[in-house]
Amino acid sequence: MKRISVNASKTYNVFIGDGLLGRIGELITPALRGGTAMIVTDDIVGPLYLEGLKSALSGMGPYVYTHIIPNGEASKNADNYVALLTAMAECGLTRSDTVFALGGGVVGDLAGFAAATFMRGVGLVQIPTTLLAAVDSSVGGKTAIDLPQGKNLAGVFYQPAAVVCDVALLKTLPESVFTDGMAEVIKYAFIAETPLLERLKSPIIPQLEDVIALCVSIKRDIVCADEWESGERKLLNFGHTMGHAIEKCSGYTISHGHAVAAGMAIITRAAVNAGLCPPEVAQMLEELLLQHSLPIDTHFSAQELASAAYSDKKRSGKNVFLILPESLGRCTIHEMPSDALEEFIAPALGITTQKGGER
Ligand code: MG
Repeated sequence: MKRISVNASKTYNVFIGDGLLGRIGELITPALRGGTAMIVTDDIVGPLYLEGLKSALSGMGPYVYTHIIPNGEASKNADNYVALLTAMAECGLTRSDTVFALGGGVVGDLAGFAAATFMRGVGLVQIPTTLLAAVDSSVGGKTAIDLPQGKNLAGVFYQPAAVVCDVALLKTLPESVFTDGMAEVIKYAFIAETPLLERLKSPIIPQLEDVIALCVSIKRDIVCADEWESGERKLLNFGHTMGHAIEKCSGYTISHGHAVAAGMAIITRAAVNAGLCPPEVAQMLEELLLQHSLPIDTHFSAQELASAAYSDKKRSGKNVFLILPESLGRCTIHEMPSDALEEFIAPALGITTQKGGER
């Protein structure tokens, strides 16, 4: 088991290891504050792991309630948020009680936002059940729901009391869900200089615990340096301005990880084209993405992507922030007028440096 300590506005531990769900009692006793627990999960994860979590918590004595939402991004809406707050009120949760988010990014974001805002904040334990949630959304304190106008438009920064990542749960994920998380894993290898890049050339499953721990350490270092995303934390958005644009243009039929993969490849080729990045970096990124069955291009036009990016919350006033690789393991933040974006990305669409790359 690995334990990574996060020293943000709240200090908490991220536990990563095989079979941790059954050991959750001993791991989080210091973090569990009150006598009532509310487990939030979805209708796919719930039947698999809810009973295991309930019995692991039963030895600790809290009264356990459960709240189940439908699986999928569409659940991260205002109606489900209010329904969860209502359930928490009806169950008599107090500020000394704890919400357990058992699921992927959607459950973590919705349960996290409810935990952050119910009575101005109750305890929160994240138990990620997807690779994407394990390496990214469960750590760092971002919580949010979507509005009809866009993703994550209502949310707060709220650090959990603990994150428990049971690697055994991730080894049985459907391939497309695992692949989705690999996009964020590859992202870390390009924003920080660590042994991660070398490791990604070998099969991931046998080294999953180490790979997740490396990703979480990178995220921890960045979040601790800039918890509220005024500077360095923006590096975590590598590939995300284009990725969010692709998700939006597809009507959210393309998943986050797949969109971010294409977004990273496109923005890196654009950086090469602008003379800001050596071509070898783009080539290595594309090779890794293809190796993990992720896309490296999109069929949407530069105009469609630029106009979708304009409504992204990662823009600031009339400018967008782009995270561009400079060399292997090093990215820098570039601020660019929104109306220059279309011209910047146009040469990077439909031309990959790989033979056989997706158009
Ligand atoms: Mg992401």
